[in-house]
Amino acid sequence: MSSPVVDFIATEARFGARNYEPIGVVLSRGEGVWVWDTEGNRYLDCLSAYSAVSQGHCHPKILAAMVEQAHRLTLTSRAFHNDQLALFYEEIAALTGSHKVLPMNSGAEAVESAIKSVRKWGYEVKGVPDGKAEIIVCANNFHGRTLGVVGFSTDPETRGHFGPFAPGFKVIPFGDAPALAEAINPNTVAFLVEPIQGEAGVVIPPAGYFTEVRELCTANNVMLVLDEIQTGLGRTGKLLAEQHEGIEADVTLLGKALSGGFYPVSAVLSNNDVLGTLRPGQHGSTFGGNPLACAVARAAMRVLVEEGMIENAARQGARFLEGLKDIRANTIRDVRGRGLMLAVELHPEAGRARRYCEALQAKGILAKDTHEHTIRIAPPLVITGDQVDWALERFAAILTQDFS
Ligand SMILES: *Cc1c(COP(=O)(O)O)cnc(C)c1O
Repeated sequence: MSSPVVDFIATEARFGARNYEPIGVVLSRGEGVWVWDTEGNRYLDCLSAYSAVSQGHCHPKILAAMVEQAHRLTLTSRAFHNDQLALFYEEIAALTGSHKVLPMNSGAEAVESAIKSVRKWGYEVKGVPDGKAEIIVCANNFHGRTLGVVGFSTDPETRGHFGPFAPGFKVIPFGDAPALAEAINPNTVAFLVEPIQGEAGVVIPPAGYFTEVRELCTANNVMLVLDEIQTGLGRTGKLLAEQHEGIEADVTLLGKALSGGFYPVSAVLSNNDVLGTLRPGQHGSTFGGNPLACAVARAAMRVLVEEGMIENAARQGARFLEGLKDIRANTIRDVRGRGLMLAVELHPEAGRARRYCEALQAKGILAKDTHEHTIRIAPPLVITGDQVDWALERFAAILTQDFS
């Protein structure tokens, strides 16, 4: 008799585009930090859907808000007002200290919207000659999968054979403020950067980097656009990762945890007149700002604050990092992280990180490798100290194991 697990995986493989290579587990239920597969095995989720499920799986208050709103009104399009959008604006602006908000759906759409907006700002406010706007980005960036975005990726896998691409982007090394100073010219409208490079393997820039970046952008009238789609909303132990250096971006991008994993909701936030340049008819989205998305996002932001998840991320993140650093294993090359955005980088001789993730799965932990040799660890922000210790025992067991 064939097990249903095999059927799900085989059927996906047969009909689906093979653009992912999932770990061999079929999930059917989730609650808090836990998920269960179709055979009833329980796992600690150490990926949280790439940080979208920061509030924990199926958070009851977000669920209730979603169900309640779904009974009342789901979509109006922006051709009409709805009674959720204004409240969403008010609450996200109060939470983040932003002045203007543009609601979108996916993270990549927020990035695209920011690019359009800063270019428009460049032409209409800064006075850059039409068609000449330049945006500076970093090597090893990850900002999503749309054509505009992959065009300035430096990963051959991400951009290979998808061109031709749009011009207007300049790539500099991440964490290198002098390189930014050198790259800026009178046509530079923005510097688009992740506070911590997540997909590149949780790369944390040197202390003081963002202070210098902020000064350079201000001095040159260049908009600092921080992609906080992964780092934002508590993941790093602060509401926004920019707060670790006490700076403020001109434009902030949020997504992922903005809906607690229930629904795609993203937003462009701006502290200045960048979003003010958009006029009716110049940008839009059928689903962007719909009442269901707004109700879900409002609940997702509320529980994040009311239930102390941001402080918990700082506390449990420190505990997790310390515990990982205490593991004595020659497979480990580096352990790093901020809040609950953590990574274990393996020695190249230790083999691919994927094998370790599969071994972790057998022990009840779901984690995902990134870039061959790095295991990323990003559990929901509701994780407890006991659950961190439970996970650490299993990480220690796997990392000290000899796979060769
Ligand atoms: C996930 C992510 C995106 C893209 O978000 P999607 O919702 O997948 O389009 C963009 N930037 C960063 C930093 C991300 O982590």
